[in-house]
Amino acid sequence: LAPLSVVDPEVAAALELELGRQRNTLEMIASENFVPRAVLEAQGSVLTNKYAEGYPGRRYYGGCEFVDIVENLAIERAKTLFRAEFANVQPHSGASANAAVLAAIAKHGDRILGLELAHGGHLTHGMKLNFSGKLYEAHAYGVDPETFLVDMDVVREKAIEVQPQVIIAGWSAYPRQLDFARFREIADEVGALLWVDMAHFAGLVAAGLHPSPVPHAHVTSSTVHKTIGGPRSGFILTNDADLAKKINSNVFPGQQGGPLMHVIAAKATAFKLAAEPEFADRQARTIRGAAILAERLTAPDATAAGIDVLTGGTDVHLVLVDLRNSATDGKQAEDLLHEVGITVNRNAVPFDPRPPMVTSGVRIGTPALATRGFGDAEFTEVADIIAQTLLPDADLPALRARVTALAQKFPLYGGLTSPGSW
Ligand code: PLP
Repeated sequence: LAPLSVVDPEVAAALELELGRQRNTLEMIASENFVPRAVLEAQGSVLTNKYAEGYPGRRYYGGCEFVDIVENLAIERAKTLFRAEFANVQPHSGASANAAVLAAIAKHGDRILGLELAHGGHLTHGMKLNFSGKLYEAHAYGVDPETFLVDMDVVREKAIEVQPQVIIAGWSAYPRQLDFARFREIADEVGALLWVDMAHFAGLVAAGLHPSPVPHAHVTSSTVHKTIGGPRSGFILTNDADLAKKINSNVFPGQQGGPLMHVIAAKATAFKLAAEPEFADRQARTIRGAAILAERLTAPDATAAGIDVLTGGTDVHLVLVDLRNSATDGKQAEDLLHEVGITVNRNAVPFDPRPPMVTSGVRIGTPALATRGFGDAEFTEVADIIAQTLLPDADLPALRARVTALAQKFPLYGGLTSPGSW
């Protein structure tokens, strides 16, 4: 029972470095978050030892009486949180949840219609190198070239033209809310099933700050690790009993073997926390922080330097910075922000004139900083730091010092002396 630092000092040292990075920089990758201590404990637990193929009460292994308690808690909490009648909490990740969803609601070769990857869609919604693009006939709708918004009339035209079996609503990089009721109307009109992937905005939905797709979609999938701030993993919801059966059999044995019971325990805890008032407050600060960032990045000095934000603002937890008219490209912006201690990812904007490894955009998200405790004052300061970093001739060392001051104001994982040792 020797500790990690003794058994494997090389891995322990890398974990220590990563803990330091997380503590001393500002994490603004829109899909990331910090899990609470309780979630970290549940995930780092003895449940990692247990095989539990099957579902609670119907396992293919003995000794599942206690992991059944855990999985039932996760299922019931997911159902309550999202007001859904059925939940499958076994998917190892968002991508594996999505593979199970498509396997449950479509046959190989069926037509699927989702948001174009280059316009903010996800790999699992039909990208040609992904299972979704290889096994299904993938079609896409894009955003409007002027407004950068999803235009529901265009979605309808495309749906009528393609006659898909599945319509997908959901995104990885889109700063506005989708009209789920209208998506459902279109799906009904063309005889398709509607699948909503709420991986990014699920935390906002749980807090009641974003419309829920669950009443409209035939199936809703999600990750747990983005706005919800739980363990890396996925889950699937539906209100349809027949679809629920198909989803269960397509997760196990369709896509997966033994569920990761330690991760399911962490999911149960994350869902419990997501029902509390502190969580709703955190999601409200998340959205407010993104709005402050959008406001600052469209101020006159930023606009004069060719900086803008797509759609002129945001309703969610992220901002898409538009650098098409800036001398600084997405790659340079990502590097400059890295230099001052702010972690973001470059992101192609729709109709991007620059190549995919360079891009003309940056995706910036506020969930992790809201979890850290940031409110209006801190988001205003970080927005200023970002804007100034992207302006020509920025004083990078001075900006780095301001980042350090913010990071120190909100210590992360206090009491954790080495990763895994509370
Ligand atoms: N769906 C959407 C919309 C996503 O943005 C992501 C992650 O980026 C996923 C699914 C996949 O999640 P994972 O990385 O857990 O496979």
